[in-house]
Amino acid sequence: MSEEFARERHQMVERQIRARGVSDPRLLTAMRDLPRHLFVPESLRPAAYGDHPLPIGSGQTISQPYIVAVMTELLDLEPGDRVLEIGTGSGYQAAILGRMAHEVWSIERLPEIADLARQNLARVGVENVHVVAANGTLGLHEHAPFDAIIITAGTPSVPRPLFDQLADGGRLVAPVGGRELQFLVVYTRRGDEIIHRSWGAVCFVPLIGRHGWEEHRRVV
Ligand code: SAH
Repeated sequence: MSEEFARERHQMVERQIRARGVSDPRLLTAMRDLPRHLFVPESLRPAAYGDHPLPIGSGQTISQPYIVAVMTELLDLEPGDRVLEIGTGSGYQAAILGRMAHEVWSIERLPEIADLARQNLARVGVENVHVVAANGTLGLHEHAPFDAIIITAGTPSVPRPLFDQLADGGRLVAPVGGRELQFLVVYTRRGDEIIHRSWGAVCFVPLIGRHGWEEHRRVV
């Protein structure tokens, strides 16, 4: 079975990721190595290498493999970097970041999902990712500044505390826009200035809380 998963993983990297222009060799190796099927509910393992997001419980999702690849490549990581992720979910994106950088802090709002991510990360032997159950829109002041910050939930705008915790030269990638559809935006800090460019449209579950969205959609 694990050989079959390895074959599917290879195909995932070739057809969904490399074929669409992602070329960072360290990233491709990490995605070829990391057993994504161990980050999805057991009943969904046969679909783990499909070209789509999957539900992980509590109304949350593990992102499409291609989007994980694109966001990671946009972060332009160096092996010595310290990274902050907002929205741990399954822990899969955090594990990929852990392979590419020195140390990763990942914040998850739902305690049961944070526990799930910790279990998933321990199962695959990732030791440089720290999962914190908290409201991520405030960042993690005590571990700042970060060389890279990634928000893996849709937000109307980037929470101010996260820009404040970005190192000089640091990159922040976030899906910014409406509740249903966002644009992936890369921000780079140059001294006191933040420059940005947009990658394209994406669709993420909402970032909840102050600086994000209200928990429940208002009925109008
Ligand atoms: N990166 C994940 C997918 C993220 S799904 C993966 O690789 O599987 C988005 C996650 O963001 C959800 O688990 C959701 O609970 C979490 N989230 C939403 N608002 C948040 C907030 N304010 N702080 C931290 N996590 C938040």
